[in-house]
Amino acid sequence: MSKPFHGIEEIMADFDLIVIGAGSGGMATARRAAEYGQRVAVVESARLGGTCVNVGCVPKKVMWYAASLAHGLEEAADYGFDLTVHGHDWARLKAGRDAYVKRLNGIYQRNLDKSQVQLIQGHARFTDPHTVEVAGERYSAKRFLIAVGGYPARPSIPGGELGITSDGFFEMEALPKRIAVVGSGYIAVELAGMLQSLGAKVSLVVRRDGVLRGFDESLRQRLMHQMAEDGIKLVTEFVPCEAQQDDEGFHLSAEDGRALGPFDELLWAIGRHPATDALGLDTTAVKRDEKGFILVDDWQATEQDHIFAVGDVTGRWPLTPVAIAAGRRLADRLYGGQADRRLDYHTIPTVVFSHPPIGTVGLTEAEARAAEGAEAVTVYEGGFVPMYYALGERKPKGLCKLVCVGPEERVVGAHVIGMGADEMMQGFAVAVRMGATKADFDDTVAIHPTTAEELVTLR
Ligand SMILES: Cc1cc2nc3c(=O)[nH]c(=O)nc-3n(C[C@H](O)[C@H](O)[C@H](O)COP(=O)(O)OP(=O)(O)OC[C@H]3O[C@@H](n4cnc5c(N)ncnc54)[C@H](O)[C@@H]3O)c2cc1C
Repeated sequence: MSKPFHGIEEIMADFDLIVIGAGSGGMATARRAAEYGQRVAVVESARLGGTCVNVGCVPKKVMWYAASLAHGLEEAADYGFDLTVHGHDWARLKAGRDAYVKRLNGIYQRNLDKSQVQLIQGHARFTDPHTVEVAGERYSAKRFLIAVGGYPARPSIPGGELGITSDGFFEMEALPKRIAVVGSGYIAVELAGMLQSLGAKVSLVVRRDGVLRGFDESLRQRLMHQMAEDGIKLVTEFVPCEAQQDDEGFHLSAEDGRALGPFDELLWAIGRHPATDALGLDTTAVKRDEKGFILVDDWQATEQDHIFAVGDVTGRWPLTPVAIAAGRRLADRLYGGQADRRLDYHTIPTVVFSHPPIGTVGLTEAEARAAEGAEAVTVYEGGFVPMYYALGERKPKGLCKLVCVGPEERVVGAHVIGMGADEMMQGFAVAVRMGATKADFDDTVAIHPTTAEELVTLR
């Protein structure tokens, strides 16, 4: 069913569309709308590219490559290389990474110029449903897109202001010797893995029984095992109630009386808040949930007819390609005559850049059993050691798993942890989305020798 178009008032406005936030979702929507001939402005209070480019996916992946190289250097001897590594130059890595991000900021600016999207620099705040104020100037538009993303949370405990968040991770001028990473989500896991691989002594501090809640249990267990093998100290059921800093470093206390420390750095990776507090939403009909995320329907529409929202600020699948896809489809629908176009939030693939990486798409085993009934679910699972490790002592074990439902064994979930899982999952996501069955996987000839072949040879 298509979404009925709400009548846009025939008002005089400075722009057809004002996009608030030049991050992944905002940039993509603004440019697509401009392609359809709309007069578009994008308002940005910080650097172009938003979280992903400046303090997210991009600099994070650079660090993951660095960490992967650190492992590779250790393994090089198994392949006959006689290497003496004299150390790691963090400052050089940071300088290269920062320069790359700066180049991307420039590319984003040029893309805006090419698309004839006007950039308005500053913080936007609604003054009424058709107007935003930026740096003392007022701008009106027929439609608005809120794509303001979020920012990293700190705990509301004494000392919660101490230490850094993921934003601070990208500002660190040196590798800390000892660091506590507090959090259990993918950002905590990824940063902990990178820091450990590059030489820090990492304590990963989680409130419950382990990391990556919501991911398939087999992946979680495998990853926690590998993290422990690699030297990360996983501290579970630790609910911080206070952080302190003294001459020795940072200390953490838990509700149950346990204490951790000293650490040279303390990194909070405990979630993200939507940046909606200072948006002036009370002058509009836009509604937020109790955490501040903007409520949208399946068409990215808010409670105010002409105001839409995409990306992290909606609290759904906070990933760059999701924000981009939702935004482009919205522009196609509003301006491109594609009345049925919207993002389907099912079967979204995702990767955790841990060591080894995780690639996953679709339902976990537990979700499938809950949704379809335990009887309807068949699971195929297998462990493997990538051939890359055949010559050495270190043998990180991988695991792959297919979750199937019904007598036809439709694959509703594909989960892999192991070298290459990050690159292989995109293609398998296409298959899962198209409704592939276990027989389709079995009938696909393997590519040998690879890790990916494990998924089509499961018995
Ligand atoms: C450490 C880290 C690693 C990540 N890694 C990955 C990854 O590997 N893969 C992946 O897919 N995703 C990753 N993400 C998530 C990804 O960065 C976000 O999902 C994505 O950036 C969301 O895009 P967005 O457009 O919703 O918001 P953002 O990219 O956050 O952009 C919002 C923009 O709005 C601006 N803004 C906010 N308020 C206002 C205002 N009132 N006026 C003007 N401008 C405003 C902000 O300055 C910002 O530039 C990671 C995130 C983090 C923090």
